[in-house]
Amino acid sequence: MNYISTRGQAPKLNFAEVLLAGMANDGGLYVPEQLPTFSRDEIASWAGLSYAELAFKVIRPFIGDCISEADLKRMIDETYAGFNHSAVAPLKELGTNEWVLELFHGPTLAFKDFALQLLGRLMDHVLAERGERLVIMGATSGDTGSAAIEGCRHSEHLDIFILHPYNRVSEVQRRQMTTIKADNVFNIALEGNFDDCQEMVKDSFADQSFLGGLKLGAVNSINWARIMSQIVYYFSAALAVGGPHRPVSFSVPTGNFGDIFAGYLAKQMGLPIEQLVVATNRNDILHRVISGNDMSKGTLEHTLSPSMDIMVSSNFERLLFDVYDRDGAAIADLMRRFKTESVQLDGARWDKVRELFDSLAVDDETTCQVIRDVHAETGYLLDPHTAIGVQAARECWRDKAVPMITLATAHPVKFPEPVIKAGLEAPQLPAHMADLFEREERMQVLPNALSEVQSYIATNAHRG
Ligand SMILES: *Cc1c(COP(=O)(O)O)cnc(C)c1O
Repeated sequence: MNYISTRGQAPKLNFAEVLLAGMANDGGLYVPEQLPTFSRDEIASWAGLSYAELAFKVIRPFIGDCISEADLKRMIDETYAGFNHSAVAPLKELGTNEWVLELFHGPTLAFKDFALQLLGRLMDHVLAERGERLVIMGATSGDTGSAAIEGCRHSEHLDIFILHPYNRVSEVQRRQMTTIKADNVFNIALEGNFDDCQEMVKDSFADQSFLGGLKLGAVNSINWARIMSQIVYYFSAALAVGGPHRPVSFSVPTGNFGDIFAGYLAKQMGLPIEQLVVATNRNDILHRVISGNDMSKGTLEHTLSPSMDIMVSSNFERLLFDVYDRDGAAIADLMRRFKTESVQLDGARWDKVRELFDSLAVDDETTCQVIRDVHAETGYLLDPHTAIGVQAARECWRDKAVPMITLATAHPVKFPEPVIKAGLEAPQLPAHMADLFEREERMQVLPNALSEVQSYIATNAHRG
């Protein structure tokens, strides 16, 4: 299996190379040259497999011969054995044909664990085989950082440096990052905002000379292996409610378009999916593109669903690549224009996007209302991201005979503010995290200056 860039200029890579490279060197994102597909009968034959067994079936074709079957199987088994629920991704019924898929039973209580727990193991394995080391650098506004640190803390061949905006992430989120005790984990609290953090990561990837020969790797969702890992739970959820012989629909709280793009891939790979609903908060560029062909950056708004406070959804480029019949030059041109102006998709391309996705933007007030209503109806407590997904599911659901599954992307304990605003009692930390507020924290506060950040990384990264 080879991977090509959405902008058509970067070299083709195999899975191991894509895993370590992150972004393509032409500024594009890597996608498989050809997607594996499965027949309905084959998918049906997977009913009854454990989550890890299913993950092996879905992931195996993407790896090619870069990793042996036995090693891949072991890493997948270890990954999902670390989840706190026997079903790994259990479904809860809210009403007739209405479900939520709980993706928050991993170590950091958000869906990003599904990919990052596996990513850390895959990277460590490939680095060990090559006798190389890697420096992971990433920016976080919360969930990505803690999940990436948890995923990499046991990796012997990489160091991880995560930048978060000083004093601007929630205390639970910060402590999930800063209380991890491992020699290869470095938390940088930057005296700036999230965009400053992201900018530093981008600049550092563009010119890695400050590392004196070491290489940078990425753990954000531009890394193909993250998207790949997320395809699995669309299959597992569909199988659990009667697929593939009956279609299912999904509603997905969306920020960077990574999670929903995995759903789109599941559909291309043969899983019968009727509707894919893109659910956004007031940072609604995706909703504006899908509903009105308006691809323009707004101003970033802070909402009660901070993990979706994103102005530019980087993985949307992967979809556009398909919609533009994999014309890398057209995508490069579109993305270049999008940097400085608002763009429209060609009419026929936009029609394809609209056929593939429904969408809704949900404001904070409605988010709290949904949390309150669903709790009153069912006793079930939604986190704010999931509440947005449930609202979009209810508004966009065309055929009530088709099961509608909303992805529950985080445990409500991570985001108590909207729960309290909804007039409900704040949820308690699960037992294995009960002492989070007593644990010792480790982080380095640094000024908003690229040279200071780079010299901190160069000094602390292990070299051999
Ligand atoms: C990251 C995240 C999202 C958005 O996922 P994308 O893949 O960026 O679309 C939604 N909800 C929660 C809780 C998250 O952590």
